[in-house]
Amino acid sequence: MKVELKNTTKKLCVIGDPVLHSKSPIIQNAIINAFGLDYIYLCQPVPKGEAGRWLECAAYAGYAGFNATMPHKEELVPLMDWLDPVAEKCGAVNTICIKDGKYYGYNTDGGGFLRALGDMGVSPAGKRVLLLGAGGAAKAVAAALSEAGAMVTVANRTVEKAAAICQMDPEHLTPAGFEIDTLCKLSENAHILINCTSLGMAGTESRFADLSFVDALSPTAVVCDAIYAPPETALLRRARETGRPAMNGMGMLLHQAILALEHFTGEPLDAEKAKAAALAALKAEGAV
Ligand code: NAP
Repeated sequence: MKVELKNTTKKLCVIGDPVLHSKSPIIQNAIINAFGLDYIYLCQPVPKGEAGRWLECAAYAGYAGFNATMPHKEELVPLMDWLDPVAEKCGAVNTICIKDGKYYGYNTDGGGFLRALGDMGVSPAGKRVLLLGAGGAAKAVAAALSEAGAMVTVANRTVEKAAAICQMDPEHLTPAGFEIDTLCKLSENAHILINCTSLGMAGTESRFADLSFVDALSPTAVVCDAIYAPPETALLRRARETGRPAMNGMGMLLHQAILALEHFTGEPLDAEKAKAAALAALKAEGAV
């Protein structure tokens, strides 16, 4: 991708370990180009345990901000001068803005998911949600959903991890196990089903052995998968075959990036235009 650099161009990047596989530079530079913003987005490996040193380097080098992926999302939290409510709730940041030598931490994963849900015309307030998984993605989504007023059951193979997530907000979050009978029972009352496990993800062998919990949902329940590769998992296929609205994780991926860029620039962006530019770039690079 061609990027025009000026002396005034502001620097952004993604840090992680590993990070060279990250799609963030493709997505962010495509949006930056589409809106003619004077920014460039780079990829910066930062080893585990070095996030504090990186913060000083980034501020000194004049970075406007950066995104953080594994393993830095939790490590950065105590180093922030300010945290947004979702980042505070889930104890993880993925977007850091640097202004006047101060660090502002946000978590856009959950907010990105909520915006993607909004694209389907679904508002989470007052809804009953069955959330599968209790890893990093599930935690961010649970924090954002509970903050938005949804009642969420977090079902996970390792139930202790679900219980730990639910400590964030016991009023809105309830843990559950992952047995098929449990999932079927919980599905009956759910307005929204979200898969935040890695079951069905490209490059892994693990799949849902039994999808009968999808059939137990009400006919109007919405089914979401955080996975975007493949674009249609067996879970989403089953939902669509049975007439239920379904969305994959691409909207979440793109919206969390758009939200991050809005934080970096301090300007709202036309999300449809941004999504189209990012998706075209991902396709051109063979990244989706
Ligand atoms: P993670 O922290 O490694 O969590 C993995 C989750 O999957 C855990 O809850 C784990 O359960 C569960 N799991 C794994 N294998 C399982 C099996 N055989 N049976 C039942 N449960 C199983 O991963 P993550 O970062 O949260 O990512 C989860 C998924 O979300 C991935 O597919 C990832 O691609 C996707 N994601 C999408 C976006 C997006 O922007 N669209 C962003 C982040 C992640 P245990 O706790 O019992 O191990």
